[in-house]
Parts: sequence; structure tokens; C-alpha cells
Amino acid sequence: MQVPHFLSPSRFVDLLTCKLSVVAPHALQGTLPAAPAALFGTLLHRVVAEVGDGRWGAAPDAGAAFDNILKTLTTEHDGGAQPLSAAVGLQRWFTRIARARAWALRDAPTRSCGEPRLRYGTEAPASPSETRVDRGNEAWIVWPEGRLRGRADRVEEDATRKLRVIENKSGALRDRTGALIPEIGVQVGLYALAIDAITGQPVETVLRGDELVEVPWDAKTHESLQALLERTLATLPPDAAVAAESIAVAGPHCRRCRIRPACRTYLRDAPAYWVAQSINGRMPLDVWGAIRSVQKDGDALRVELRDAAGRFVVITGLDLDWGLQDIPAGDPVYFFALETDQQRQHTERVQPSNFRDAPPGGGSNRRRAFGLRVYTP
Ligand code: SF4
Repeated sequence: MQVPHFLSPSRFVDLLTCKLSVVAPHALQGTLPAAPAALFGTLLHRVVAEVGDGRWGAAPDAGAAFDNILKTLTTEHDGGAQPLSAAVGLQRWFTRIARARAWALRDAPTRSCGEPRLRYGTEAPASPSETRVDRGNEAWIVWPEGRLRGRADRVEEDATRKLRVIENKSGALRDRTGALIPEIGVQVGLYALAIDAITGQPVETVLRGDELVEVPWDAKTHESLQALLERTLATLPPDAAVAAESIAVAGPHCRRCRIRPACRTYLRDAPAYWVAQSINGRMPLDVWGAIRSVQKDGDALRVELRDAAGRFVVITGLDLDWGLQDIPAGDPVYFFALETDQQRQHTERVQPSNFRDAPPGGGSNRRRAFGLRVYTP
């Protein structure tokens, strides 16, 4: 596998836990579908950028444009087994929409100046390689010498030539003590580092959630981020050939990684974490092992496994379309991105042994497993 020249500030924190999850070839990054919350976040970022750039079409104002574009984009996603809103959860759905709407209205011009680019996300624009710092929404920042390339949510320049980098955050900005989550400023800080190196202009770094938080950008932060960047890049020489397993580290952070089914390190190490007494956080809701039995349960399947950690595991509510009904006992089967009804607090410490796809009972409002994948090698 070849290490890419450019790394993205938006994935930099992931490099600190597992480098492979970031530098794996693009084709592998879509092995599993995006999680519903991540998909929804991407969609809202697009709506905010369109409204902020004034691409409202015939909408009379920014609020109407926000609603129209959001509706169009969510309709595109809702062709599957369950609407995105149900997969995300209604409370989180409406909270995030309200937050994104406030960002969009704050950035919007006074009138429409173009048509929304509704197909923008599917026609992935080519990534530039030349040095640049754009202004506006989804602004490219490309710093070849520092090997950083990404699109900041928004870059503004004021009358004093100060550049303000804004990153929109739909998740929490602060921990339970009210302090800023330490890693949360890394992305915006790396953009500031690049801007400083390219333009020499003064920079301000801002995170926008429910509140606007200015992240300190001073000589000390500059120095520590520069050191972090240099340390990290030194382990990933550009265009070098590396063995995937030499840069992979499995753990609870694998939850955010979409290449799990193709990652040998994860497949080798995850079972030990399922039964580890002390791990910091929950492993992904995946399981694999040897079939013990497959039973029909109404119009779904119930599968019993001896999993790779030696546990007895049950998976219910599986669609017949997975074709598991004729698999003989003893054959291996792999499930990725299941759901569980076991208590969340419990599953933060202990990997569940009861999983499901569809929830039991037609009237249940619990969500299906979004993006479930089943493999029978
Ligand atoms: S599955 Fe885990 S170990 Fe494998 S690349 Fe992803 S984060 Fe790294």
C-alpha cells in the first residue's frame, strides 16, 4: 500500500489512533456504508454551504432555501429500508437541523445568486494540488510543503486581512466538566497552521456548535501543532510502500472506520477486545464465528453462533434476503454494523452477545441496523 502525499486535517485525529484507517486506498473506505449520524452530518454541511453561498434557486429567502435543499437531499437518501431520520433518531434529527439552520442563516447573503448544486456530493470535484487558501464556504486549503489538504467549512477575511477559519460541529464541543474537548481544535488548528505558512496573515480559529467558541491560536498552540504534524508525517513518508498491518491498531475507535471487513488487524484482534475486562469504550457492533443453528422466526431469521471469542451469540430479525437459511452448522459467517437492545451503559464496557437487525414486533419504533453487511466466505 502506498502512503498518499496529502493528508486531510479533518481526519488527522484518526491518524493518532490508527494510521491505516486514514491512508487506506479510497476504494476500501466505502467497504461499509457511512453511519447514519455521519451521513446526516455530511448532508447538513452541504445544505449550510449552499445556503451560505446564496445558491437558493427560486426560494424567496434563506430559510425557505434551507428547507427546500434539505428536503431534496433527504429524499435522495430515503430510498432504502428506513428513512435517515429514523436511523438518526428524531430528537437528534431535529436538534441538528435547528443548529445547522442557524449557521446557514448567519452566513447567508441577502438574496439568491444561483441554483443549488444538488448533485455536488456525487460528482466529487477533483482535489487540487497547488498551494491555495480559498475564502467562503467549503474553502480549499492546500499546503503541499506541509502535506495538508482539505476544505474548511468557512473562511472569512475581514478589513484588517485577518482570516477567520470556522468549523461547524454537530457533536459536543465540551466534555462533562465544561472544558473544550482536547482533540476538537486539532482540525481547525491545522488549517490555521497551513494558512499561516502560506499567507502570513493573522488567523483566528472558531468552532461553531450551539455556541461560537474561539479556539486559542497563539505561539504555543502553533508550536505544539507544528511538532505534532512533523512527528506524524515522519512515520508516513510520502509515496512510500508500507504493509497495511504495520500501521493498523485496532480498538474501540474502529467504530468510526468503514474498512473493518477488509482489515486483517481488526479481524485478528477484535475478538480479544470483545472479552477484555478493561477497554476504554465500546467496540463496533460486529460479530463473526461458526454457525450453530439458523431458525425461521416469523418472516425473519434467528441465527446462533459460537463467535470468534468462544461466546454463544444470538442474532435475530435477519432478513431472508441475506440467504442464510441453508448455511450448514459449522460454516463461518461475518456480521458488520448490527444493532443491539442491550443497555447502552452496559455495552460501553461489555460487547453484547444479543444482536439484531429488525426490532421485534411490527409496532416497535426502535431502529433497524442501518448499513448491516453479512459475509459468508
Ligand atoms: S478497522 Fe480498526 S484497525 Fe482496521 S484500519 Fe480501521 S481503525 Fe484501523
